[in-house]
Amino acid sequence: MNHPRVHHRLEADLEIERDVCVIGSGAGGAVIAAGLARKGLSVVLLEEGAYRTRSEFRMDEGEAYRTLYQDRGLRSTSDLAITILQGKAVGGSTVINWTTCFRVPDGVLAHWAREFGVRGWTPEALAPHFEAVEQRLSIAEWPEALANANNRVLLDGCRRLGYSVGPLRRNVRRCANTGYCGMGCPVDAKQAMHLTYVPDAIESGAELFACVRAQRIEMAQGRARSVLGLAVDPESGRPTGRQIRVRARALVLSAGALNTPALLLRSGLDDGKVGRRTFLHPTVAMAAFFDHPIHGYYGAPQSIVSHHFADRGEGRMGFFLETPPVHPMLAATASPAFGASQFEVMSRLSHMQALIALAIDGFLPGDEGGRVTIDREGRMRFSYPIRKPLEEAFRAASVEMARIQLAAGAVEVRSLHLDPVIVRSERDLERLERAPYGAHRHSIFSAHQMGGCPMGEDDEVCVVDSELRHRRVENLYVVDGSVFPTSLGVNPSETIYALAHRAADFVALAIQ
Ligand SMILES: Cc1cc2nc3c(=O)[nH]c(=O)nc-3n(C[C@H](O)[C@H](O)[C@H](O)COP(=O)(O)OP(=O)(O)OC[C@H]3O[C@@H](n4cnc5c(N)ncnc54)[C@H](O)[C@@H]3O)c2cc1C
Repeated sequence: MNHPRVHHRLEADLEIERDVCVIGSGAGGAVIAAGLARKGLSVVLLEEGAYRTRSEFRMDEGEAYRTLYQDRGLRSTSDLAITILQGKAVGGSTVINWTTCFRVPDGVLAHWAREFGVRGWTPEALAPHFEAVEQRLSIAEWPEALANANNRVLLDGCRRLGYSVGPLRRNVRRCANTGYCGMGCPVDAKQAMHLTYVPDAIESGAELFACVRAQRIEMAQGRARSVLGLAVDPESGRPTGRQIRVRARALVLSAGALNTPALLLRSGLDDGKVGRRTFLHPTVAMAAFFDHPIHGYYGAPQSIVSHHFADRGEGRMGFFLETPPVHPMLAATASPAFGASQFEVMSRLSHMQALIALAIDGFLPGDEGGRVTIDREGRMRFSYPIRKPLEEAFRAASVEMARIQLAAGAVEVRSLHLDPVIVRSERDLERLERAPYGAHRHSIFSAHQMGGCPMGEDDEVCVVDSELRHRRVENLYVVDGSVFPTSLGVNPSETIYALAHRAADFVALAIQ
């Protein structure tokens, strides 16, 4: 975007003063920046990633992971057991997400009210905010008839087994069904933040500094006085030596789960709660091969969902089922095979189908999720122990995914274990049941990072209050996926949009 208020590069050190500084321009940051700017406040947005647009989205995985993802697509837990996909760009993870949109389930809001004292987050209070973002982002159901063959397996398999299943909603306009949402939409169909709320914010007077990493929040007399941002090179991510200091009446942290807690910790704002209760929707996948082509790299990546196993009864972790796109690099890195066996798997890519099961973490007693810390250089570190209930969910989910794939006509199902389990009939499911589950046994992923700065009124665990204000620092807010006290059990982006839409009212009211 070429605009005098959009700075792609910091040419000299700078000190500025504004009403509000928003850090991060993803689902949370872009929406709240637009809301605050529209209310007439002077807003500056700092974003670590570059402002890339469709001319740079070349449907090339190698380039996209390197330029649009955190840690060049190589982010993981400290023990390397869980691969973490997360965006780094103007527009945040929305630039590379798969467009699935859900409102947070009512039962999750009720759980937060009960367990964390979250006040005022009811379906009724959120409804106008959901409606507003749904309209702005063209969120609508994607017709079942347009489901690609990859998604159709989930639909057909579930229907044959009597499992609940159906189409889902996506934030697209005039989608060309390219299937390359994860590499930045090449036709601007996805209504990601760099095309919607970021330009809205700029048009309403906000200023954007891309390629600036917020390094530290500077405090004075118990208040957040300013943010120190370091300009970074868009290719290497290394500091260029230039810096910006933004003094603001209010600071809004929207750097996403993992990075927002890390920024608080780097700034010395650690009260023992920051970074705890971080959730992932830890995800396992199952590959299946059909005797006809699937071409899982084309078509809307996700258009069918099953929540049949979301509630598995007392003491058992639920999961939901979707499909991932089956692009060559994603498939190759997801598969733990190598050498001849990897060659054999990849040579059948055109006939490969994949399902994912996303575990709904954070609801069982004792499920604290993972923890963000920082190392001596201030870099983010993340650990996520895989506890017994999650292992059990992985096992149950793997068996159910294989069952669905077989029911839809798969000739072979292959687990992503280091020593893969091959399933050709229902009889083989027993071997999948007996296989080992957990860290370093099979591939595990996350594209949904949540928590780390839970909201609510329980001072023992909550970092921000129900209006997303830091519980100790009155002019500091957190507005992104890190405020969820548990995972959502649905894809999180739409709930973050709505949360940020509402939070603009809280912040504006507090400082006007
Ligand atoms: C491959 C993939 C597919 C996905 N598919 C879906 C989907 O289909 N549906 C769905 O609902 N969700 C999906 N998600 C998840 C969804 O996009 C995220 O949950 C959501 O965007 C998170 O919003 P956020 O505001 O918390 O963070 P983000 O959108 O990640 O934005 C945070 C921004 O802050 C920036 N930042 C971080 N640290 C700093 C710093 N120190 N200084 C300045 N800037 C900083 C980051 O670069 C980033 O741009 C997907 C995610 C991925 C990675």
